[in-house]
Amino acid sequence: MGSNKASAASLLRDVFGFDDFRPGQEEIVEAVARGENTLAIMPTGGGKSLCFQLPALMQDGVTVVISPLIALMRDQVRALQASGVAAGALTSGNSPEETEMVWNALQERKLKLLYITPERLSAGSSLGMLRNIGVSMIAVDEAHCISQWGHDFRPDYLRIGELRRTLNVPLAAFTATADAESRVEIVEKLFDGVRPRTFLHGFDRPNIHLAFTVKNSPRTQILNFVNARKGQSGIIYCGTRAKTETLALGLREVGHASIYYHGGMDGEDRRIAERRFQQEDGLIVVATVAFGMGIDKPDIRWVAHADLPKSVESYYQEIGRAGRDGHPAETLTLFGPEDIKLRRSQIDEGLAPAERRMADHARLNALLGLAEALECRRKTLLNYFGETKVNCNHCDLCQNPPEVFDGTTAVRKALSAMLRTEERFGSGHLIDILLGNETEKIRQRAHTKLPTFGIGKEYTRVQWQTVFRQMMGHDLVRPDADRYGALRMTDAALPILRGLASINLRRDTIKAAVRRPTVTSMLSEEHAPLLSALKAKRRGLAEVANVPAYIIFPDRTLIEMAERRPKNLDQMARVNGVGAKKLQNFGEAFLKVINNEVEPLHPTRRKLAGRKCGALFDKLMKVQTDLARGSDGTGKPLSCSASQLAKVAQLRPDDNVAIERVLGDQKAERFGSAFLDVLRNAG
Ligand code: ADP
Ligand code: ZN
Repeated sequence: MGSNKASAASLLRDVFGFDDFRPGQEEIVEAVARGENTLAIMPTGGGKSLCFQLPALMQDGVTVVISPLIALMRDQVRALQASGVAAGALTSGNSPEETEMVWNALQERKLKLLYITPERLSAGSSLGMLRNIGVSMIAVDEAHCISQWGHDFRPDYLRIGELRRTLNVPLAAFTATADAESRVEIVEKLFDGVRPRTFLHGFDRPNIHLAFTVKNSPRTQILNFVNARKGQSGIIYCGTRAKTETLALGLREVGHASIYYHGGMDGEDRRIAERRFQQEDGLIVVATVAFGMGIDKPDIRWVAHADLPKSVESYYQEIGRAGRDGHPAETLTLFGPEDIKLRRSQIDEGLAPAERRMADHARLNALLGLAEALECRRKTLLNYFGETKVNCNHCDLCQNPPEVFDGTTAVRKALSAMLRTEERFGSGHLIDILLGNETEKIRQRAHTKLPTFGIGKEYTRVQWQTVFRQMMGHDLVRPDADRYGALRMTDAALPILRGLASINLRRDTIKAAVRRPTVTSMLSEEHAPLLSALKAKRRGLAEVANVPAYIIFPDRTLIEMAERRPKNLDQMARVNGVGAKKLQNFGEAFLKVINNEVEPLHPTRRKLAGRKCGALFDKLMKVQTDLARGSDGTGKPLSCSASQLAKVAQLRPDDNVAIERVLGDQKAERFGSAFLDVLRNAG
């Protein structure tokens, strides 16, 4: 069973591309994979198909799926095939070739899922055929079609009971219709009256209080939340391993019993942490998402997210660890523009195929929709999973309905500032334009001449930041990872720009945004990726020298480097905090980061570690460094992003046109033929 679980999770990720189960799925998958007869009632859109598709892959033999809708069936088969799963359908809509292919695959015992219509069962030859192909299980979709009193009655469904008896294999039935009469009928007709393992639960966890807050001083916000719940067991989820350690320490310093937990710890340490959390009262675990699987503590009183989770599914799973005993439990999720940017770039920089990245963006959008929701969180959350009847009064928005206003004008001003500057800047610079600030950068680029210059004086900088955050939350604009986070407009913004749609924004968060921004958020966003590359370099150097990071350079200095982007040692020497000694010791190393933008330690590269394309990536990187200023060394500096290099290494384009598709024309012209040489030599 333990190994089943591991392979279910890895199949979920590798085949279906999901990181988390949706509510209810995991238990159903486990039962079905164990070979239990099951009946699962789940709302439409809740993710039923996965509950038989995944177990089908965990078993030998073929799973027969009976489904009444040919179009749906063909969609599923196509989707499975696209994910590399051997699936086929026998329907009246098949071409002779398709049917032949299915038969061949069955003969060779290669097929994992065979979809058939109930009508097909009635055809005399079918039973005999199904007896001889090694069926491991029967899955029945839309099982309520067996109910004679329901409006979807399909007489041929009555044959399924006979099929089950003949094949003598487990049967899993699925439906979204939960009324008691049809359930009784399903049990009678499909399972001969023997009650199967039944899953019928709504997804609502009414004892859990839901709340989101915009991040402004995260440490204090988390501390306040924790202080108000002293002595209670809770989990704080953080986006990075390092943060779990510092936050756990910070909490201990102010008297909270707390430990950290993340995937980088060795197995023994993790087990100790799990055991302590399970056994000790009132312990706080500060953890990455690695924590939680297999934790079965009923009295976790609260879950806080110090950083935004990556999808609604993850959010639901993580908060769902609280209050299993049914007693009141509380949650708090912090989110801010940095989170949105981070999650977007993780998706963009990942190596998943384009459709999967799009789906990931959509799932992230759903979570942002929840974060920026204007009414009941529970309703927004459960609607996403298909549940429509929702009672709440137990979330921050029900208790304090937010003040909203028509933000159309503000959004249009912001969009206009973006478009007038060709979508080449981050929100920092755009806000300077809106406010009419004559910064050096504005003067250099003659942005004072823009018609949008100074048209946004009704708001302060921080208030504009909340407008931009909400725009990101509504997916009207997206930071472009390949261009240091410059904001681009999405299609969703078009109707607003054209005056065909309006948009409501929350006023309260705009009003509340008066706190001084921290030093790092003062750094305009386009420099943030470079800053984190500089910090990574600093961390590496600090580890080698065995000194704290700030000894190498303090944050201030790195920020200035990121903004000024010195091109040589002379310019580097002018950055505050870079003395002669440090210039000599570290100057080159940081210059390299600045002028390359891509570090060898880049996460994109790390993912390729140990693979053939990893070595290829390194070769491409070297070639592009050599050509950074063209073959004669006098050209304009140009470099590819890590994700572009990774794409070249993986897709191995074989001509200039294909290269251009990945790199765009400018970079293809500079690096194209050199890259093709590398790829050809790699064989
Ligand atoms: P149902 O048959 O219950 O109406 P589907 O099986 O068609 O629902 O699934 C609905 C949607 O949910 C599909 O787009 C599917 O890709 C998505 N989905 C299913 N399981 C997950 C999961 N674990 N994480 C994210 N998305 C999922
Ligand atoms: Zn509510």
